[in-house]
Amino acid sequence: MKVGIFGGTFDPIHYGHLITAVAVKEIRNLDKIIFIPSFIAPHKTDRISSPPEHRIEMLKIAIKGIPYFDYSDYEIKKEGVSFTIDTLRFLKNNYKDIELIIGYDNLLDFRNWKAPEDILKLIKLVVLKRKVISEPLEKDKFYFASELIETPTIEISATDIRDRVRNNKPINFLVPDNVMEYINHFNLYKD
Ligand code: ATP
Repeated sequence: MKVGIFGGTFDPIHYGHLITAVAVKEIRNLDKIIFIPSFIAPHKTDRISSPPEHRIEMLKIAIKGIPYFDYSDYEIKKEGVSFTIDTLRFLKNNYKDIELIIGYDNLLDFRNWKAPEDILKLIKLVVLKRKVISEPLEKDKFYFASELIETPTIEISATDIRDRVRNNKPINFLVPDNVMEYINHFNLYKD
């Protein structure tokens, strides 16, 4: 069993995540992808995300019925700051062959993650295409250790979706319909 681990805030999960996850599954020949919402992302401690119960519920309804997509509530149940190294050590008990899926924006910051070298010893780092504001002047060892894959570039971000909702703009075609209905029902992102 070869699994892909896709972590994030997922506030909310959107088609950028879902479309690229399907592509990475096919390109890397993965048996399944496990989405893992963070309780608190280490690089987002200065901002308040939606309650984890909402974020994981949206994730669940977005992937419902897709046999090769799964989720884990490990980080949410654990609470505190969700460090990927801790989650991977836990997952290694069940899965031997793990690929960690991150967006290109996150690769550029990977050296600042907790124990990046140890992460690389546990998993293969797979990087999704994503536009970044500025390319790094120097590529670091993590860049060279990773597998950059040709996923479609889908320019959707959760930040943009939250802004659109706040400004009463439609979010059709950015998130699955049932996620859109969930956001409306619980009045998320309206402040
Ligand atoms: P925010 O705008 O709130 O920062 P986000 O849209 O970047 O959120 P996250 O939940 O933080 O979404 O992302 C989880 C992971 O998915 C990260 O590794 C991120 O790089 C990646 N990702 C998010 N959106 C895309 C996209 N459109 N294409 C490829 N990767 C993406």
